[in-house]
Amino acid sequence: MTDILKDVTVYGKEQPWRERKIACAMYGEYVTKLNYKKSARVVECGEVLRFASSGSELRLFQAWFCHSRLCPMCNWRRARKQSYQLSLIINEALEQNPSGIFLFLTLTEKNATASTLKTELQNMNASFYRLFQYQKTSKNLLGYVRSTEITFNEKNQTYHQHAHVLLFMKSTYFRDSQNYIKQAEWSKFWKRARKLNYEPIVNVKRVRPNVRRGDTSLASSAREVAKYQVKSTDYLTGSESRDLKVVGTLENALNHTRQLSFGGVLKDIRQQLKLDDLDNDDSPQNLIKLGINPATGQKVTEVDYVWNPVSNNYEKW
Ligand SMILES: [Zn+2]
Repeated sequence: MTDILKDVTVYGKEQPWRERKIACAMYGEYVTKLNYKKSARVVECGEVLRFASSGSELRLFQAWFCHSRLCPMCNWRRARKQSYQLSLIINEALEQNPSGIFLFLTLTEKNATASTLKTELQNMNASFYRLFQYQKTSKNLLGYVRSTEITFNEKNQTYHQHAHVLLFMKSTYFRDSQNYIKQAEWSKFWKRARKLNYEPIVNVKRVRPNVRRGDTSLASSAREVAKYQVKSTDYLTGSESRDLKVVGTLENALNHTRQLSFGGVLKDIRQQLKLDDLDNDDSPQNLIKLGINPATGQKVTEVDYVWNPVSNNYEKW
């Protein structure tokens, strides 16, 4: 019987290598049909996974990935790494400014079409910088991290581009009405910065570091910022002509853009912590020595898995 990859974390969660590779293969087919230069890289993404194994635990120590923004394999790995790095930045920010407050701000606007998406994303970017140049929005701001997310609206065939921002504010933000900005006021500031002729929907809420329940915690807001820019289920439905249009539009709109941008102390801390490049697979934490682990005395051996496109599984080499 063929040995199939089963990578289960210490918390008992199985890693979705197989699901991701199946989606990655579909994405690879699309970029091939669209004649993108990178298509060969995408097709080969994550074909071979080399793990270090000690007992039941596997740790990836070498693999080759395509790093394409829309690749389901790569954006899963990137989101995990981004989320981890963001948690380090947040912890350090609170260490340096214990009275600092986090807000989670969502900025929206009307949907774009396939032909306007790229320009609207660029305009949104410029408007974001204007938003924090106003006296009231800037005076309590310590730093921010922002991500842009896009969802596809099937019914209207439009794209909903919006920004998630984690704001780190001085505690004086809540002092009085000269400092505190109500949701309706945030909407006015966004309208002005974004130069809109309508009231945009803006949502703002305070997030706390130690709240366990769902959507109000800092950790879940950080995950929201660090997650994928576009859900792969929005462009990989299996309906080919429809998917090709959406993939083409997104590839064009996201080309040469960054998913995350940092400002203020969060930007400084990110540099201080010397966090490695998100697309670097050779970071020191990935360096694992085979042989006997001196800390545990356990034997660490190499186990390699190769993707089999016929059986749709990772099989032991
Ligand atoms: Zn990839």
